[in-house]
Amino acid sequence: MLTFSLRRPFSGPPIAFLILSLLLVAGACRSSQAPPPLTAVPTELSFPERARRDLEALASAKPPAPSGIDALPANVRDELQNQPWFGEESPAHLQLLTDFLFQASQNLAGVRPEWPYSSRIEGNRVVNQPFGEERELKIIDRRLFDFLERGDERIIVVFSSDDIDLQRGQIQPVMDRVRFFLPAIEDLIGHPYGFNYLHIQLKKAGDAVDPSYERGSNAFLDFPGSLGPNFDTVLVHELAHAYASMLPRDGHPWLLEGVAELVASILTGRTTGYAVAASYEPLPVDPALGRVPLFSRNYQAQSGNGSVFFADLLKAIGRDRVSAVLAAIHSDPFRREADIFDIIRAQTPPEQAEAVAAILDKWINGANLAKPPR
Ligand SMILES: [Zn+2]
Repeated sequence: MLTFSLRRPFSGPPIAFLILSLLLVAGACRSSQAPPPLTAVPTELSFPERARRDLEALASAKPPAPSGIDALPANVRDELQNQPWFGEESPAHLQLLTDFLFQASQNLAGVRPEWPYSSRIEGNRVVNQPFGEERELKIIDRRLFDFLERGDERIIVVFSSDDIDLQRGQIQPVMDRVRFFLPAIEDLIGHPYGFNYLHIQLKKAGDAVDPSYERGSNAFLDFPGSLGPNFDTVLVHELAHAYASMLPRDGHPWLLEGVAELVASILTGRTTGYAVAASYEPLPVDPALGRVPLFSRNYQAQSGNGSVFFADLLKAIGRDRVSAVLAAIHSDPFRREADIFDIIRAQTPPEQAEAVAAILDKWINGANLAKPPR
C-alpha cells in the first residue's frame, strides 16, 4: 500500500481521552447498576448500553478516506495546484485527472487492468508496477494528458515513458491520432470504448524483442522518432485490444489477434504482420485446449491464421457486415468463441452464402486449407 504524507488533522478532543473517559463511566456504572425489574419495557437503552454503543461507534469511526485531489500525495497535489492551467480546467476534467493519478499509484502489479499501471518486459516476462511519484509529477508538469469527449463519453488520455524524456510537443501527434482513430474503432466495433482512462506508455523503438501490447486501459507502444503509417497500424491494433474484455472468455489468440488485425486493416489499410506467421491449420475453438504462451511461435502462427481467416471474410462480405459481426461477438463475454461462426452465417447475404460456407469449412475443418506458395 502507498502511504500518504498528508493526514487530515483530527479536530476536537483526543480520541484516547474520550475512549478512556467512556470506559471509566461505563465501568463505574456497570458495578453500581441494579438489575432492571422484569416487567419493565425498556423505552431506551440503559446508560451502560448507551456508553458501550457510543464507545463502539467511536472506536469504529475513522476519518473518511480522502478522495479527489486530497487523495494524492502532498507533492503531487502541490505540483498540480501550482500549474498555470489548474484554475482553468473544468471540475470534471480535474476529477478525471486526479482519479487517474490516484488509481495509477495504487494499481500494484497491474492487477486491475481497467486502472492505469506501468509495464516493461524483462526477458520474456512482463513486469507491471504502479505509477511512482516521479512519473506522476512529469505527467502534471509537462501536461502529458488530454481529454477526448464524444457524446456522454469522457476519456482522459495520459502518456508516460520509462526511457523517453517525453515532452508535450512529442505526444501531440499521438494524441491527434488517438482522437482520429478511437472514434473510428468505436464505430467499427459498434461499442463505445469501455473505460474512462487510456494510458499510453511509449517506449523507445528498436530493441530486438520489443513488442507492443495492450491490457485493459493500458497500451504499451514502440515510439519511433517519426510517426507514420506503421505507427498508426500498431496504434489501432493495440486500441482494438482494449475491447478484449467484451470478447468471449474462451477466445483463442486467433480470435483476439485476428480481430485486432482486422480492425487495423480496415482502418489503416495495413496489418502488423501476423499473417506472415500463419501456419494454415484449422482454427481451434475448444476451450479445453488451454492457453498458448504469449510471444510463442504457436501464438504467432495461430494469430496469423486468425488474421488470414478474417481477411478472407472481409473480402467475401465487406466492411459493413464485418462491422455487424464485430458488434455481435463483442456483446457478451460469456458466450462461446465458436458462436462467431453462427454470427457470420447470419450476417451473410444469400449471394455470398456459398463463398462464406467454403471459408468456414476451410478454417474450421481444414477443407482445402493449404499454405499459398510465396
Ligand atoms: Zn495484438
